[in-house]
Order: sequence, then structure tokens, then C-alpha cells
Amino acid sequence: MIYFDKVSKWYNDKESVALENVTFQVAPHEFVSIVGHSGAGKSTLLKMLIAEDRPSEGSVFYESLDIHRIPRGKLPKFRRKIGTVFQDFKLLSNKTAFENIAFAMEANGRDDSEIAENVPQALALVDLEDKAWNFPHELSGGEKQRVAIARAIVNQPDIIIADEPTGNLDPIATYEVVQILRKINDLGTTVIMTTHNKGVIDELGRRVITMDSGRVIRDDATGKYVL
Ligand code: ADP
Ligand code: MG
Repeated sequence: MIYFDKVSKWYNDKESVALENVTFQVAPHEFVSIVGHSGAGKSTLLKMLIAEDRPSEGSVFYESLDIHRIPRGKLPKFRRKIGTVFQDFKLLSNKTAFENIAFAMEANGRDDSEIAENVPQALALVDLEDKAWNFPHELSGGEKQRVAIARAIVNQPDIIIADEPTGNLDPIATYEVVQILRKINDLGTTVIMTTHNKGVIDELGRRVITMDSGRVIRDDATGKYVL
């Protein structure tokens, strides 16, 4: 369970208000899309969840844990519960697909035998077994994003956060990425995704939270994209 309790975030002495009194919950295993115009506060909201930045007011809970009261030393352990995917993939250019995924496991203290077992499983989940030894520049945008998703799930997080994961992709790659996120959700992982893409929302038919100027203005149980 994720719970945003009256969260506000402002920058530069309230000159820029990114979130205003945002309250919502996400139950385990949900697939939630967050939509809204550029600047609506979507990325800021996700940053609060991975404790990359702090609310100016309000609290964010993961189960009974107040995320912004976690001692600094315990943050890495908390962050392991969350896999992240970004619009620009953030792959390491000097590592192959396999090595990019393996690197996330090494950073997590996993040993070679686990890596040898779990990386191929993650590659299979995103249907990229045949591209394991390709470098990012040898992959299409859609393939790069699928490697990034494999990296995000390889440590078996409870939650996947995807910030505009299809923002740089063509319609076919977009469809494939959404299908993979849906499959990961069906396997039990909570997914929270921001998107601008009405087609993606309609295709998913899942919960949609609409933001405008830092506020939640709609929360629809089944996919409506109204902007
Ligand atoms: P979205 O992801 O919906 O496009 P953001 O969450 O990135 O929106 O930004 C929401 C608002 O907060 C915007 O007006 C943005 O300019 C502002 N903002 C975000 N980060 C900062 C920052 N570090 N400093 C100042 N303003 C910021
Ligand atoms: Mg954003």
C-alpha cells in the first residue's frame, strides 16, 4: 500500500508549486497511470515515492513506513523495493544488455550464480534473449526500453515506477512496452506509470489519476483520459 497524505511540494520559496495537497492511495498489485499536461507535477510525484526529493508538507507512506523519515543509511534497502524506468532509458552505453541488467544485481549484492540464473529470466520476460550481447547503440528504442524494464524487475521489486516510458517510442514499440508492463503487473508487481499517450490509457483500461497544476483533479477506476 502506498499512501500520499496531503503532499505539497514547492520550490524557490513557493515561486514554483509542483504538488498541492495531493492525497491518494495505491493498493498492492494495482496498475495506475498518471496523466496531465507537461508541468502538472507527475515526475515530482514519482520522485517523492523513491525519496529522491522531500515533500514541503505532508507525508508519503509505504505500508506503515513514512518514506521521508527513513534514516539515510536505510534508504538503499527501501529503494530496492522499487524498480524505476525512465523515458530516456538510462542504460550504460559501454555495457551489453546482459551486463546492464547484471550490474543492477551486483549493486544489490547478488552473487554470480544468481546473476547467471536471473538475468536470462529477465531478458526472456521482455522477449530479448537474442539481444543479450548487444550494446545499447545496437538496439532500437523499444528494445532499449525493454532492457531497462528487465533491469528494473530483475531484483524482484514490489513496485515498478515508469516515468513516460513510451515518450520516445514509436506506436509499435509503445504497444510492446505497455504489454510487458501489463504482464509484469499480472505477475503481481504494482505499476505506477506516467504518460501523455491517450492510446496507452485506452488500451490499458485501468485506473487513471489526472493531474493539473500540481493537483489531482480526477481519479477514475477505469481508464478515462480527459484533458
Ligand atoms: P511533469 O512531470 O508533470 O511534466 P514536473 O513534476 O516535472 O511535471 O514539474 C512540476 C512543476 O514543478 C513544474 O512547474 C516544474 O517547473 C516545477 N519543478 C520541478 N522540479 C523543480 C525544481 N527542481 N526546481 C524548481 N521547479 C521545479
Ligand atoms: Mg515529467
